[in-house]
Amino acid sequence: TQRFIWPMAQFGQIINMYQRAYASSARIFGLMDEPSRIEEDPNADELVVGNGDVAYDDVTFGYDEETIIEDVSFEVDGGETLALVGPTGAGKSTVLKLLLRMYDVDDGAIEIDGTDIRDVTIPSLRQAIGYVSQDTFMFYGTVAENIKYGSFDASDEEVVEAAKAAEAHGFISNLPEGYDTEIGERGVKLSGGQRQRLSIARAILKDPEILVLDEATSDVDTETEMLIQRSLDRLTENRTTFSIAHRLSTIKDADLILVLEDGRVVERGGHDELLAEDGLYAHLWGVQAGEIDELPEEFVERASR
Ligand code: ADP
Repeated sequence: TQRFIWPMAQFGQIINMYQRAYASSARIFGLMDEPSRIEEDPNADELVVGNGDVAYDDVTFGYDEETIIEDVSFEVDGGETLALVGPTGAGKSTVLKLLLRMYDVDDGAIEIDGTDIRDVTIPSLRQAIGYVSQDTFMFYGTVAENIKYGSFDASDEEVVEAAKAAEAHGFISNLPEGYDTEIGERGVKLSGGQRQRLSIARAILKDPEILVLDEATSDVDTETEMLIQRSLDRLTENRTTFSIAHRLSTIKDADLILVLEDGRVVERGGHDELLAEDGLYAHLWGVQAGEIDELPEEFVERASR
């Protein structure tokens, strides 16, 4: 490709571009079209999602020589919810970045409905996946434009419908210019809970088969929390959902919980099963539920090994 014949003088520029893309990748994880660091197979087909079954088969990955994800395997049936839990740095976000092909696996494979995601085009893959978080990228533009991002041909009515389903219509109506209010760096500043509901509205409009939720432990009030929960319930219904779970309710109700530690799955199962194991999950749960004050020393050490 062209990249190989570019003179060395330009090489620094390429690195720079990648570095910038990387530096902001956390922020624009939701944007889905960040410059790709991976190569697309010229014979790639469009992804056609049927059930929305997702399978990780012995997935191993490292950003550099160091292995970050090791032999991770699981299957989620279409429409089910998988919760990823584990200490900070365990590899939860990395597992989900691999699904979006922000990076390719070093070993093993990820399949959607039995198709290796390396065999499909990247735009079709990312179109099938919605991403919701408080840090979802919002650009300078109107509220309506931000909701429409990724579904540019949506009508005004559809935007309002999506905002209503996301429990965002109320606060939007109270903005100075409603849906035409400018937001972003130079516009009206939105709270975390408001940004999150806009990202939910955006995902509802996009209507993806697969959903990735990064639930921030946000400092929203109880009522907002309830609104967010209600709209998330609508959004995740009948969609394959991956959740980096902080919210106890999501974790409890997930069809499968994977406990990651140091890049490996150390426990898996349903909430009750995992509590009965009295291992890392039971202790993380205990801390979050306020039953124990902090993670016992042995778990902290294991987590930061
Ligand atoms: P979690 O989501 O569980 O907190 P992450 O997947 O974010 O964990 O991180 C797992 C490990 O990978 C951490 O050690 C982190 O420092 C490292 N890591 C994450 N992103 C990158 C990156 N882009 N380059 C190099 N290392 C990274």
